[in-house]
Amino acid sequence: MNQQNPVFIPGPTNVPESLRKAVDMPTMDHRSAAFSDILHPALQGVKQVLKTREAEMFLFPASGTGGWEAAITNTLSPGDKVLAARNGVFSHRWIDLCQRHGLEVEIVDTPWGTGIPAARFAEILAADGSHGIKAVLATHNETATGVCSSIAAVREALDASRHPALLLVDGVSSIGSIDFRMDEWGVDVAVTGSQKGFMLPSGLAIAAFSPRARAAVESAKLPRTFFDIRDMAESYAGNGYPYTPSVGLLNGLKCATEMLLAEGLDNVFARHRRIADGVRAAVGAWGLELCAKSPDLYSDTVSAICTPEGFDAGRIVSHAATVYDVAFGAGLGEVAGKVFRIGHLGSLSDVMALSGIATAEMCMADLGLDVRLGSGVAAAQDVYRAGADPQRMAA
Ligand code: PLP
Repeated sequence: MNQQNPVFIPGPTNVPESLRKAVDMPTMDHRSAAFSDILHPALQGVKQVLKTREAEMFLFPASGTGGWEAAITNTLSPGDKVLAARNGVFSHRWIDLCQRHGLEVEIVDTPWGTGIPAARFAEILAADGSHGIKAVLATHNETATGVCSSIAAVREALDASRHPALLLVDGVSSIGSIDFRMDEWGVDVAVTGSQKGFMLPSGLAIAAFSPRARAAVESAKLPRTFFDIRDMAESYAGNGYPYTPSVGLLNGLKCATEMLLAEGLDNVFARHRRIADGVRAAVGAWGLELCAKSPDLYSDTVSAICTPEGFDAGRIVSHAATVYDVAFGAGLGEVAGKVFRIGHLGSLSDVMALSGIATAEMCMADLGLDVRLGSGVAAAQDVYRAGADPQRMAA
């Protein structure tokens, strides 16, 4: 196939041509002044995207999972207790990573398709008078179910009992696409990767540490070497790295943040909302339902779409790949075979989204589901026309 189709997986996302070029650069000495002209604007750009003045940024040659590891090993000690909700595959994997590091996790099992139960967190934290819980983990956007939880509500749960636990947030599939307010929400560590909202190939773990999290590093006893932010901070101060960085990706990150800020963060978030609204309108027109149980939980970066009872949703994903050369996300964990996912984040326009909706529609019709060709596309077109610039519409 000569012409590559856009992908509709919830990360890695489509990479804009300008970012592909930014990543593809000749070898550069990572101890040179020229490197520092890449590193520091990238760090600064990420800060702006995270809406933080106070936090310190760390960029590891890793993926989001490395960011989780950096978050916990720098702030916690063996045997420490953390509180987490499990409402999908990614919240589950973070819990698993904590357990494998010798942490005690108080797990609040929460039905998939629902969000972080902030009220239950508030009860647990209020009952923890001795402050045995050292950190609260929150997955902002559960990519497996297409559920976006309120981090502000988790912060309120902590504040209600003046609980000092750190708030560690996975923003892997939200940051850069959905509003994220690190300082306002009192987030202590925010984690993401390069391959979602930043529209780059995978390969960077991005972790932001608040001053409180930064202070916790001095007493945290979990073993760490590669992810020790003190080594990283010391190297940044000398315009370098504690090891060999992936310079091309860092250059890509610098350019990606410039691109997001040039579009305007509010416009970026509005674009994601509009595209997601179009996908959701299509789902309604197909007579299907989202895995996310209520509109306040709908994710603007990924929709997990339930297929009728007895139909293996994975067939849509494999059919799209083999027949139309288009990638959708498969259902994961508890919802494997029950949902397929349309990723709608990163470098995506209304028109690109329409091609994904049309493809999903063709697949479902091919596979005998009761879906009328054009129904979802028309529903999404209505959303996109209504959201279009009026001047463009009149022209
Ligand atoms: N957290 C969430 C919400 C994710 O969606 C993912 C990956 O899709 C991860 C964590 C893991 O990130 P990575 O695959 O970059 O290690």
